[in-house]
This record gives sequence, structure tokens and C-alpha cells, in this order.
Amino acid sequence: MKTAPESDGEALRKELRGWLESNLDERFRQAGSALTASAASLGVLREWNRRLAENAWVAIAWPREWGGRAASVAEQVAFAEEMDRAEAPSPVNLIGLSNIAPAILEHGTEAQRRRFLEPMRRGDEIWSQGFSEPEAGSDLASLRATAVRHGEGWLINGQKTWNTLGLVADFCELLVRTDPNVPRHAGLTCLLVDLRLPGVEVRPIRTITGEVEFAEIFFTDVEVPASAVLGEPGAGWRVAMTTLNSERGGVASLHLMVRRRIRRLVEATRLALDPDGSPRTADPCVRRALARLHVDGELLRALCERALAGMIANRPGPEAALTKLVWSRTEQRIAEVAAEVLGAEALGGEWARARLQARSYSIAGGTTQINKNLVARRVLGLPKGN
Ligand SMILES: Cc1cc2nc3c(=O)[nH]c(=O)nc-3n(C[C@H](O)[C@H](O)[C@H](O)COP(=O)(O)OP(=O)(O)OC[C@H]3O[C@@H](n4cnc5c(N)ncnc54)[C@H](O)[C@@H]3O)c2cc1C
Repeated sequence: MKTAPESDGEALRKELRGWLESNLDERFRQAGSALTASAASLGVLREWNRRLAENAWVAIAWPREWGGRAASVAEQVAFAEEMDRAEAPSPVNLIGLSNIAPAILEHGTEAQRRRFLEPMRRGDEIWSQGFSEPEAGSDLASLRATAVRHGEGWLINGQKTWNTLGLVADFCELLVRTDPNVPRHAGLTCLLVDLRLPGVEVRPIRTITGEVEFAEIFFTDVEVPASAVLGEPGAGWRVAMTTLNSERGGVASLHLMVRRRIRRLVEATRLALDPDGSPRTADPCVRRALARLHVDGELLRALCERALAGMIANRPGPEAALTKLVWSRTEQRIAEVAAEVLGAEALGGEWARARLQARSYSIAGGTTQINKNLVARRVLGLPKGN
């Protein structure tokens, strides 16, 4: 009997699985995420990143000439699934690879691509995204940080905040106002800024989990050359949209971590005993809460797959906004259910951290209210509110 030819995604899956079996050891697996890594574990993660990069396992969607594999969407999905299955840490440049590199590839000069992409891929230079300000988040076009012409280059002043990885970043994709006399979207420019320059001050922001995942960055008369402009002066909004749309494109694999967390909670509950020695899972309320969570996880998977199908067919739809809403709600629900079913055991460790961390998911990458507005207009056809 003839067997069907292996799809591209399956061939890549097989290759990656074999590679992970011989390269991913416990030291790398335990290093966690670059977002909250200590200096020591960041060193281990950089070593893991280099190992991935040497085998073209970082940024597989990039063109081959920049170290990628020109991977199809099916291959990218297979990649995400295998990395999740093996519990392999991500490359260190979480923001750089997914958000900033697509903007450099689309709007950058050849010299910018040559200078920045390879060190980003290898994890030798870490990038952060400098868009939000204390008075400009959802309404990004109201931002106030400025850059004015200064000789051949630009002089930057202002403040950015909520910069993920900001404390360890070497570079920042910075959105600034360069022309206050034109409509606000037309007066913005995107700059690629070296954060080690004089006049840059990076201050840590400690979050409710006690970790330092963010920084705020202050710029005082920071001089950058003309070659720091990504795209054209005044075209910053277009560059920022490439960056943010790439960020939203990441929704397709959101269900993987969520479903893994649900499986872990089911396992933890299976082992838990009530004070009278009976298994916690004997309680019908506990079973019902876990079953509902399982259904939420499967719903999220279905939404992610729909978003993915839209991407493959090049048919942008409202799925990204819907998926983001369901994802953040499900993450918050997992943490709530963990407290309900595990009781005091969920007051510390990973479940307590998850409960605090999950609050931020209503804000990151577009707030719940902004996404609800999008769904109201684009799915339900409701008029724009005041
Ligand atoms: C985990 C995480 C990572 C982040 N990483 C980065 C990063 O790396 N770089 C970066 O630049 N920024 C980053 N941010 C910041 C993020 O982009 C902003 O927090 C977000 O855009 C919201 O802006 P804001 O905090 O100023 O809130 P605001 O926009 O001031 O919103 C305040 C409240 O008002 C609501 N609201 C605002 N406008 C409307 C409206 N039109 N209709 C209804 N309700 C509305 C919002 O939903 C929210 O509840 C990150 C945030 C988080 C939580």
C-alpha cells in the first residue's frame, strides 16, 4: 500500500524532535524564560540560543539568507508544537524576533539588516520595543517623546515605559515624534537606538509577582546618526503597525502553553487529597471546574486554528482580537480554578505566580476593552461608541 508523502510540517517536526533529543538537556530546560531570568540563567539561555541559531532553529520563518529556513506556516506550527512538547526554552529575543525583525526586514536598509539581524538571531544583542509612554498606551499616536534634527542625525528626549526586557536590552525600536506640526500619525518616526549611548537611563519596574520583567527608559539629549531611522522620517506609524501586526500574528500558538498549564493542573489535582484522605477529584465540583477549563482550552485551540487558517489564506479577520480575549480570560480562569481546587497548596509557587501574572494579560498586546471594541465593530457590526 502506498503511503501519503510526508508534509513539509511533518518533515521539520521529525528533524526538530531528533535534534532536541540530542541537544536539549535539563540545564537548558530549567533556565526558564528570558523575561524573568537571573544573570546566571540568562547566560545559560544565551548559550541555548546560540546552539539553536547554529542549527537554524531560531527565526525559522526568516529567509535563508538571514539564517532562517523560509518556513511555511505549517512548519512554524510544527516548530511551536515540538518546542512546547519538549518544554524547550524560547530564544532570548522574544520581542526582537517576533515584533522588531519583521519591521527591519520590511522597512530596513540592507545595511540595517546586515548590522542587526544576525546578532539578534544569535541572542548576542537583546532588543526591546519602546512604544508605550506614561500618557500613551492604547492611544499610541498621542506619544510625546521627541527627536529633532541635530547635524546629520537626531537628538532624542522623552520617556518610555513597560519595556519588556528593557533592563537587559542592548537596542530599542523607539517610536518618537519628529514633526509636531502635521496630523499626529504623520509626525512619527521609528529609530533603532543603541541603549548604551550617553543620556540613556534604564530603570527597573518590579511587578506584582516581585520580578523585574519591565523597565522604563529615559532619554536626555541622546544623539543618534541619520542611519538610525527605520523606514523614512515621518513613516513611523507604518513601521509601528508592521511591528504590532507581527506581535498579533503570534496568537496562533497561544493555546499550547494554556493547554499545557491545564494538563499540569489536572495532574496536580489528581495527586491532591482532602483532609479526610479522600482524593480531591472525588468532589463533583472539582471535576466540573476542571472539565470546564478543559473545554475552554479546546475552544482556544479552535480559535487559534481559525486564526491560522485566516493567515494561511491571507484573509485578515477578527480572530486575533477574539483569540487574545479568550486567551487572557482562560489564563486568568486557570489560576482561579487552581486556587479553588488546590486550596492552600495554590497560595505559593507556580500557581500563585500564575494568578498574579495573569492579571497583566488583559493589558499586554491590546487591552481587553480595545479588543472588545474591535469585536463589537468588526464581528457584531455595532456602531463606534463615543
Ligand atoms: C505584559 C506586558 C508587556 C508589555 N510590553 C511592552 C513593550 O515591550 N513595549 C511597549 O512599548 N509597551 C509594552 N506594554 C505596554 C502596553 O502596550 C500598554 O500597557 C497598553 O497599550 C495599554 O496602555 P496603557 O497601559 O497606557 O493603558 P491605557 O491605554 O491608558 O488604558 C487604561 C484603561 O482604559 C481603557 N481604554 C483605553 N482606551 C479605551 C477605549 N478607546 N475604549 C474603551 N476603553 C479604553 C483600557 O482598556 C484600560 O483598561 C506591555 C504591557 C504589558 C501588560
